[in-house]
Amino acid sequence: MINIRGVSLVYNQGKQNEFCALKNINLDVNNGELVILKGVSGSGKSTLLSLIALLQKPTSGEILIDGTNIAKLPDAFCSEFRHKRLGLVFQNFNLIEGLSVYENLLAPFALTNFKANVREEMIKRALELANIAHKRDENVSNLSGGERQRCAVARALSMDADIILADEPTANLDRDNARAFLGLLESFKALKKSVIVATHDSIFDELSATDRTLSLRNGEIV
Ligand code: ADP
Ligand code: MG
Repeated sequence: MINIRGVSLVYNQGKQNEFCALKNINLDVNNGELVILKGVSGSGKSTLLSLIALLQKPTSGEILIDGTNIAKLPDAFCSEFRHKRLGLVFQNFNLIEGLSVYENLLAPFALTNFKANVREEMIKRALELANIAHKRDENVSNLSGGERQRCAVARALSMDADIILADEPTANLDRDNARAFLGLLESFKALKKSVIVATHDSIFDELSATDRTLSLRNGEIV
């Protein structure tokens, strides 16, 4: 489903501080596969996720999702594609402070045209899947770290995306909450989501649902 072919990413191309962050990456991720992307800080993990998430475009190579080369999608289609197909979970969770859990899930729907009753059902389901429905009306600024993350996971699930990308999802969690996140990942498998987790947290060694573990070093898969 995701085919990455000969992808390179050069930051500051042509400038004195030019830096090649990814070098000739080839990677296929099948439907429903759970892939762990390991590597020390600076190895290129976030850069690779950002390309799959259409947050930037590769300098060369192609990224096919169900056969569509997303590196060639016009910008106008990128956000729509991201909304429909991708759920993103970031290290710092990227929640909108001052809003409730429910309102954080509601915000991305402003860019869609789901009917209100369908939308409410989607939000309800995501809150339940991520085990945060009991905090629906709480201001996210009052949540614990683990709860904040479950809110971010619920948001990533709300549009029923089939690809979930998580960048250092356990970096800001205590070990109990990190293990709870591993449990959530296992439930994604049951939902047939394709999941790519970038992490340098060794707790992922405990995750039996992992299909494949890859290592990045200096922008290359080793
Ligand atoms: P990781 O997520 O594995 O820690 P990153 O993908 O964030 O690694 O970064 C890989 C390399 O690319 C690092 O050396 C980093 O300094 C560099 N880099 C990341 N983002 C930028 C940017 N916007 N401009 C220039 N260099 C960057
Ligand atoms: Mg990173």
